[in-house]
Amino acid sequence: MPACCSCSDVFQYETTKVTRIQSMNYGTIKWFFHVIVFSYVSFALVSDKLYQRKEPVISSVHTKVKGIAEVKEEIVENGVKKLVHSVFDTADYTFPLQGNSFFVMTNFLKTEGQEQRLCPEYPTRRTLCSSDRGCKKGWMDPQSKGIQTGRCVVYEGNRKTCEVSAWCPIEAVGEAPRPALLNSAENFTVLIKNNIDFPGHNYTTRNILPGLNITCTFHKTQNPQCPIFRLGDIFRETGDNFSDVAIQGGIMGIEIYWDCNLDRWFHHCRPKYSFRRLDDKTTNVSLYPGYNFRYAKYYKENNVEKRTLIKVFGIRFDILVFGTTLKYVSFVDESHIRMVNQKLLGRSLQDVKGQEVPRPAMDFTDLSKLPLALHDPPPIPGQPGEMQPLREEATPRSRDSPVWCQCGSCLPSQLPKSHRCLEELCCRKKPGACITTSELFRKLVLSRHILQFLLLYQEPLLALDVDSTNSRLRHCAYRCYATWRFGSQDMADFAILPSCCRWRIRKEFPKSEGQYSGFKSPY
Ligand code: GDP
Ligand code: ZN
Ligand code: ZN
Repeated sequence: MPACCSCSDVFQYETTKVTRIQSMNYGTIKWFFHVIVFSYVSFALVSDKLYQRKEPVISSVHTKVKGIAEVKEEIVENGVKKLVHSVFDTADYTFPLQGNSFFVMTNFLKTEGQEQRLCPEYPTRRTLCSSDRGCKKGWMDPQSKGIQTGRCVVYEGNRKTCEVSAWCPIEAVGEAPRPALLNSAENFTVLIKNNIDFPGHNYTTRNILPGLNITCTFHKTQNPQCPIFRLGDIFRETGDNFSDVAIQGGIMGIEIYWDCNLDRWFHHCRPKYSFRRLDDKTTNVSLYPGYNFRYAKYYKENNVEKRTLIKVFGIRFDILVFGTTLKYVSFVDESHIRMVNQKLLGRSLQDVKGQEVPRPAMDFTDLSKLPLALHDPPPIPGQPGEMQPLREEATPRSRDSPVWCQCGSCLPSQLPKSHRCLEELCCRKKPGACITTSELFRKLVLSRHILQFLLLYQEPLLALDVDSTNSRLRHCAYRCYATWRFGSQDMADFAILPSCCRWRIRKEFPKSEGQYSGFKSPY
């Protein structure tokens, strides 16, 4: 029976009735779940954002590939086709490469018994000829394998090609064998050793720690710290099929991301491995797909120099190392420097505890360059007298001075919200006078005279034109401040300027238009 028969059915409206129960238990459970969901969402958002902040670190990489492959090769001997089995070991299929890369051969095309003589080119549209007029003596084009003699000779049957002086017989233009000859290379394993160094501080570490069991195989969830990778597994992780890539070759990236927290209470510094296919798998035949190169083995037969030419297809693995970089901060009311992680979790840099590191001993020879510009008795930075003109009471708080500021002279950061906390740093840990009010700040950091001198000291023929001058002087002033307060150049590169100093320098050497770009890591 249709449901819309009676009039009363049409004019109905459904709603859910909400009952509010006063219960301690249910209320607690409800809030418990709210809190869990909220924390998870915030955590996911924050960790996602931080993960993108990858920077290269100073590191060394060493790899060792292991595995044996049985190769069935078809060869032609005295006009008869034969199948030969051979065993390939590490020395046969790996090739030394520069940088943080290694190569594993997966497929090849061999041209055996080549020697220097005259022979016809391999027939292609470009080399076919019908008479000597189609060839040109002395001609060589970049595609050909030798120098033409000017004669047109028989290659095979009634096909004629231009004769060349070359390594003969000429390599045939052929397709890479399918399936790949070293298809079983997917079972090879590679051991990756990676040592990293955080600049400016003697912190080095490595991925293979003494107690690590190295009979393991890497697995993303079950064995994420194992430094031994099965090649086939790497391809599975990126959604590629090893056997397909093995035919033409390819390039695979292995990323090592060092997620380090060097806070004293929460020391943690371990690598995370991930993979990324780097070659373009969509290129078609005409655009040289895959990855290959030629390689020759030379030998002598009856006192004639001969070679075996091999067109090698394989996979180049590039190892890319990233990490969270350390930053340094220095407060004028503290004798040590603090090393902080870049992971700031949205907190102002001012409030991050970090790890205390000693201030490097000052290199006094550098100071000898300064008296030129500093007329009165040269002050000695780093000594207790250094801040002597600093008044005891704090500078009156400027109207814009943010809550984290202890000196009253800092200004809010102009950076995008996600990076703002990096510039929320004062020259002091506790309330007091600002370092920018000191005599030394004026002399060492703001003196146009000194800065010009330093710029010319580096580049004697520098033309200080009006436009670029201010920004050069400003950047030089940042460096002066950093070398003064951090001593070692390594640390200075990663030193964060307090907001008050940054803005005092910018006030002295302003930019005529646009926003200031702020701190960019040198790596
Ligand atoms: P710009 O002149 O518009 O590019 O902006 P800035 O006046 O902020 O200067 C940017 C340059 O100064 C970049 O090369 C930064 O690396 C450098 N710089 C800015 N802030 C800092 C800092 O806190 N520490 C260090 N070491 N360099 C900084
Ligand atoms: Zn301040
Ligand atoms: Zn200050």
